[in-house]
Amino acid sequence: MKITKVESFVLHVPLNPPITDAINSPTHWGLPGVRIFTDEGIVGYGYTGTCALGDEMIADTIDRYYAPALLQRDPFLVRDIWQSLRYGDLHWVGRAGITQMALAAVDIALWDIMAKAAGEPLWRYLGGHKTDGIKAYNTNGGWLNWTTDRLLQDITTFVDEGFTGVKMKVGKPDPKEDYERVKAVRQAIGDDVDLMLDVNQGWNITTAMRWGKKLEDFDPLWLEEPLNPDDTIGHKKLADELNTAIALGEHLYTKYAFRDYIHQGAVEYVQVDATRVGGITEWLEVAGLAAAYDLPIVPHVGDMGQIHQHLVAATRNAPMLEYIPWIRHIFVEPVQVEKGRYRLPELPGAATEVSPEAFERYRVR
Ligand code: MG
Repeated sequence: MKITKVESFVLHVPLNPPITDAINSPTHWGLPGVRIFTDEGIVGYGYTGTCALGDEMIADTIDRYYAPALLQRDPFLVRDIWQSLRYGDLHWVGRAGITQMALAAVDIALWDIMAKAAGEPLWRYLGGHKTDGIKAYNTNGGWLNWTTDRLLQDITTFVDEGFTGVKMKVGKPDPKEDYERVKAVRQAIGDDVDLMLDVNQGWNITTAMRWGKKLEDFDPLWLEEPLNPDDTIGHKKLADELNTAIALGEHLYTKYAFRDYIHQGAVEYVQVDATRVGGITEWLEVAGLAAAYDLPIVPHVGDMGQIHQHLVAATRNAPMLEYIPWIRHIFVEPVQVEKGRYRLPELPGAATEVSPEAFERYRVR
């Protein structure tokens, strides 16, 4: 099989209503991505996820640097292709951020092609582990701009629907407000539901030490991204001092960054995201690394779960997956979550193919 054409795209899907966390206020979810065409008629779809900012630079990277290097290559030699793009013309200016997210889109499209050619959903092509679906935890009711009333209404609705895990954002200007909101949620959902807290890098070490300890009153399963993701030492201190586990990974771009966090004991839930870490190829290597330390993997869903449901289903040490249903309506085979569980996909491929109607409707480039 040979690659015959490579075409970038950018989709912007509106969020209704817009949401906020401690540092982001997106009005749209951005999908800069790529369609890779082959001489056997199979088309692979890959994308990464943004707050609809910077998409054009990711698409430029694909068009100007990765596409010419992909033509006439065999998509099954995905690890060879990955090495040549990562260590190719952009190595001097790249290695994280835009170039690594563009590489993720390409890599995901290649895995989509291989699984489609094999006639299998990606989780089976990779070697499946789970058989009866995946536990989902719901993030979509815990936004920082929600009033406490709306927060309680949304989160208790999820629990009534069968979710046994929920996440809420913290990082208000006054942490006392966070404390009261978390207290109200824990009282509303009872002791048996997993409650995760996400700071989105909103605190410094002093605030994190003080309020991370106070919030232990409500038995959070983890405290997510309390600090700037470049601060390995600060996270190590928190992991040592707090009883609550530290979760992070959505802003780490390589297995080396994960190695440093994992080896130092600075992360306890590994949130590696294939759309950030350069795709499925690098994700699998991080998963192996985490397995060697007996750490659980709970991916951040920059893809909104379409790709990660396959990866979690093929990974032993991945106990659950985040659920945010913002873009599911655009896909040929959208994620299916019922009674708090992902149902495993059945169509061949990585579940990344966008329907023709949605592709036209949301395409901005
Ligand atoms: Mg997060």
